Amino acid sequence: MNDLIGRVFDFEKRVFPSNDLYAKLAVDGQSPKALIISCADSRVVPELIMQADPGDLFVCRNAGNIVPPFATQNGGVSSTVEYAVLALGVRDIIVCGHSDCGAMKALMNPELLEGMPNVAAWLRHSHAAEGVVRAGYGPLANNERVRAASLENVVVQLAHLRTHPAVAAGIARGEISLHGWFVDIHQGVMLGLDGETGRFLPIRDDRPLPVALAAAQRLAMGEEYAEAAE
Ligand SMILES: [Zn+2]
Repeated sequence: MNDLIGRVFDFEKRVFPSNDLYAKLAVDGQSPKALIISCADSRVVPELIMQADPGDLFVCRNAGNIVPPFATQNGGVSSTVEYAVLALGVRDIIVCGHSDCGAMKALMNPELLEGMPNVAAWLRHSHAAEGVVRAGYGPLANNERVRAASLENVVVQLAHLRTHPAVAAGIARGEISLHGWFVDIHQGVMLGLDGETGRFLPIRDDRPLPVALAAAQRLAMGEEYAEAAE
């Protein structure tokens, strides 16, 4: 910890004064390019993976990269999502899971949750992923089951995102794209969910980015009923 405190002093003395971006952001305010909801795991650092600068990413992290479905009870993730979409105008939302996830290991091996009632309750938001793996996959080794659960959990949390009114409205207007990512921390490889096929594919610079839900107007009555663009 002392080592980390030393880096705080270095930030104050060297990093902050040498980067004009901090001053600009403090005056102009933030306009992040995306909201990313990732696991709290210390090995998964969204800003480093995306080589993002301050101001680039609005970040929400928790155990298991979970987005509770919309409910009348308030929550931190729900509030972060709502603020990002309505106040900051974020158009891209990424849910990012990873390999060797402790939360997903616990989801698939509940005996690991003894004495952790809060984690157990939190992981109820991922039970659909556990159900998909149990019902949809054949026999898997434990590490494969955890990997499958981690991937399916990203799919489940993206579905939860769509229950939030601000997100649902943005999707209907064709303003919001959803992305499901998975960081393989063993291989240093990023996978992206292709919403068309439901499969995760490696993100490559010579291929289009796999998108879970591309921005497109989606109105049940048809686009001829859309509010006229102003
Ligand atoms: Zn994790």
